Amino acid sequence: MEDPNPKSESAPEATPSTPQENQEAAAAGAGAGNILSNAPLLDCLKRVALDLRLAVTVGAVHRDIRWELLTMPHASLSECFKRAAHELKLTIVLQTYGFSGELEVKDYTLKHGLLGTAFLLFKSYQVTGNTNELVLCSQIVKACDNASLRSRNITFLSGRAGVCALGAVAAHYCGNSQLSGYYLTQLLKIELPEDLHDELTYGRAGFLWACLFLNKHLGQDTVPYQYTAPFVDEIIKYGRALGSKEECPLMFELFGEELWGAAQGSAGIMHVLMDMKLKPDELEDVKGTLKYMIHNHLPSGNYSVSEVDRNDGLLNWCDGAPGIAITLVKAAKVFKDKEFLGAAMELGERIWKRGWPKHVGICHGISGNAYVFLSLYQLTGDLKYLYGAKAFACLALDRALVLITQGDRPYSLFEGIGGLAYLLLDMVDLSQSKFPAYEL
Ligand SMILES: [Zn+2]
Repeated sequence: MEDPNPKSESAPEATPSTPQENQEAAAAGAGAGNILSNAPLLDCLKRVALDLRLAVTVGAVHRDIRWELLTMPHASLSECFKRAAHELKLTIVLQTYGFSGELEVKDYTLKHGLLGTAFLLFKSYQVTGNTNELVLCSQIVKACDNASLRSRNITFLSGRAGVCALGAVAAHYCGNSQLSGYYLTQLLKIELPEDLHDELTYGRAGFLWACLFLNKHLGQDTVPYQYTAPFVDEIIKYGRALGSKEECPLMFELFGEELWGAAQGSAGIMHVLMDMKLKPDELEDVKGTLKYMIHNHLPSGNYSVSEVDRNDGLLNWCDGAPGIAITLVKAAKVFKDKEFLGAAMELGERIWKRGWPKHVGICHGISGNAYVFLSLYQLTGDLKYLYGAKAFACLALDRALVLITQGDRPYSLFEGIGGLAYLLLDMVDLSQSKFPAYEL
């Protein structure tokens, strides 16, 4: 891949793009104040920057720290990433949970709130094997459990299912079967409203992802097929009602728009369906829907935000091509169809050239776009994708101080340094990297 000049400031600014995300970001920004006044975050990022400079001083050839990092042997770079992730994680815990849980839980969710801190600790435990991380993760989930008891949101990303699923899994690895059973029972008590949408962030697909996460870690029948099948049936029924067998078999509407993206559109729903047990005709409809997206992308090669919005500027996981690319990589594995891999690789090229958003996080920032290359690298083994992932990770790390802006939730998993820390941990063991709460 050619050098796309990641220092360029001309890339289109990525912003939260759904009406709901815009409102949420505005609210968060109003509360967060100017990031320059956030002393703990500034101090943390300065410590990370100093450590990076010390790590690359010996033998330094280039003046740009990103290129120094990129030319390091992978083992040395991994050590830098691990130390940076540890530093970020300590600050995130202190600023979202406190020394011993004394901070009030203002937002319990995984996407934007305290459960994201717990999920980061779970990832850290997976990478380091340090059981202290797991114990702290479990304590934080408990705080989220109390805060979410009356929540009406039901998904893994933004609702109570995330609390119950992560709580059960963390307790399981702690060896506490009683606590694990409690969370599993709590998950099965969640009632899904009849007027629920189907998407990943707030809808049925997001609830099913929690069930998939449980089955992955606790055993395939922990949440049995008989329990999840009706929710899959509902998704297929609504998708077929709005879709068309000849063109796009499954279509979903939200806010009056048929969205395509991962967070709230078809790509996210298809991603979850590919992990569910489907009937042959349902699987064909999933395949047909993804083929429709490939055959109807924009003339530039980018993908639409929705059927109506042909905006060519979004290269974010939540609403744009990166989330779709990760779903296409998944489709290439499930259907063994080269068209999916070809489309994902084309999107990879496009994201390499234009997908350098001015945010740090994984939702609509640089850290999230790194996962496109990790996903392609896992499937193809092609080193150019490993280089791509490293380039995005190094840029996000080096520019975090500048790119964390007012409007971001600075410590959160999806919009803040939580996602960056998660990515850095994923860069240590590349074979296990997964976009959080998206790739299983
Ligand atoms: Zn986003």
